[in-house]
Amino acid sequence: MTTPVAHLINGQFISCPQARLQDIFDPATGLVSGQVELASPATVESAIASAQAAFPAWRDTLPLKRARILVRFQRLLEERADEVCAAITAEHGKVTEDARGELSRGIENIEFACGIPELLKGEHSKNVGPKIDSWSEFQPLGVVAGITPFNFPAMVPLWMYPAAIACGNCFILKPSERDPSAALLIAQIALEAGLPPGVLNVVNGDKEAVDILLTDPRVQAVSFVGSTPIAQYIYGTASANGKRVQALGGAKNHAVIMPDAHLDNVVSALMGAAYGSCGERCMAISVAVAVGNEVADQLVGKLSAALGRLAVGPGSEALSEMGPLISKPHFEKVRGYVDAGVAAGAKLLVDGRTLTVPGHEQGYFLGGCLFDHVTPEMSIYKDEIFGPVLCILRVSSLQEAMDLIDAHEYGNGTCIFTRDGEAARYFTDLIKVGMVGVNVPLPVPVAYHSFGGWKRSMFGDLAAYGPDAVRFYTRRKTVSQRWPIGGVREKAQYAFPA
Ligand code: NAD
Repeated sequence: MTTPVAHLINGQFISCPQARLQDIFDPATGLVSGQVELASPATVESAIASAQAAFPAWRDTLPLKRARILVRFQRLLEERADEVCAAITAEHGKVTEDARGELSRGIENIEFACGIPELLKGEHSKNVGPKIDSWSEFQPLGVVAGITPFNFPAMVPLWMYPAAIACGNCFILKPSERDPSAALLIAQIALEAGLPPGVLNVVNGDKEAVDILLTDPRVQAVSFVGSTPIAQYIYGTASANGKRVQALGGAKNHAVIMPDAHLDNVVSALMGAAYGSCGERCMAISVAVAVGNEVADQLVGKLSAALGRLAVGPGSEALSEMGPLISKPHFEKVRGYVDAGVAAGAKLLVDGRTLTVPGHEQGYFLGGCLFDHVTPEMSIYKDEIFGPVLCILRVSSLQEAMDLIDAHEYGNGTCIFTRDGEAARYFTDLIKVGMVGVNVPLPVPVAYHSFGGWKRSMFGDLAAYGPDAVRFYTRRKTVSQRWPIGGVREKAQYAFPA
């Protein structure tokens, strides 16, 4: 057994002999592949102290110098992409090509952060009063923390800390304990690129570590991405402790298929969006709403055929298109939802429960599942399953499809497939969802926009990455300045200055 994955604090790998350990599994085999140390409160506190100590010098480092380190980080990360992607696949299970996609979307955020000096410029007004000038500047917060989910072990941490440190903050990352190695490796590469010790720290752990980050008064802000119940807990606890919080949660993303859509392209899009990464994406399409029975009948026929061709296997094998689920408990949970859907009367057209991958019988493989005739009260419709399960709902109009989407508790992503510009415009104007695609199944904003859902998919006002991140990781200070003219005696003024 290799040494447990530990922590990166003040530029050093830190391991604590008394730490609690948790097994890490290879999802393709079901075997234990390593262990991760779960940080004690004292370990987290030492990371906070290291970030706090590094902050004054990092705040005062010229923004361009901070950006230059990020340029080097981006270059080094590109050079070591194979190593990082292998670490993602080994612990998460996703296929290599998907890991590459994830990493490149993460790198995009470093590239954005290299240009942040432009967004830190602030605002200036001359002569706001007699010989008084005024300006607003955006100052870093200090020590900020990020808590991230298992499903994008490289990309989601990169949504957070490149922007935070480009703005002059020091960062503590708490990655998912289920697949921690990629995040730790990437942080190590960031340090090799020249980040001073303490500017970026990684603590591995579970709720015990998280709770320190939520309550310690030295932490100024918390970014969270994960499931909705935990997002709500993080938002409530960290806000109650006086911190700025953004907490992104779960999702149930609907695709609306209009009768005029190009169905073969819709099927290709849905296959990738529903079954890519085994459905373990917060932007995965898990519901297809067919407008009209004719389009529904054709759609299920074509989807069933495509599912028959889906290559499921270990993520490290070049021919695999879909890998395993993350863990045995999650596998059982997703399987349980499929059982519940059948029991509730939905029609299971393709049953992935019967799949076996030869030589990987203990791996957490579930084949793609397709349900037709799903109704809104079924748990397979209401809950986020986070697995390779696509539900088809049949409606008779676009308005009915939109009412369904608007009534759902989540509002992360959605899309419409159509050739009708008027329908698309009506949909994008009025749908109550944060990220919307028109013939784009996964409308994940690029790094220079920002990412955030509506309703119970996000708690907080500022979304992740992009321009919102610059506002989230800084606070505005407005200075009014006047240089009195020497020798002129000034009288007291008791009226409010006008
Ligand atoms: P999760 O909520 O179980 O865990 C996320 C993080 O919270 C992990 O670091 C974990 O250690 C920590 N955590 C777990 N339980 C905790 C507790 N009781 N107290 C404090 N911290 C706790 O989520 P996950 O299973 O790792 O990730 C999948 C979920 O993340 C899905 O719901 C998915 O939709 C969501 N997600 C959302 C987005 C988005 O942008 N909205 C992006 C990716 C994933």
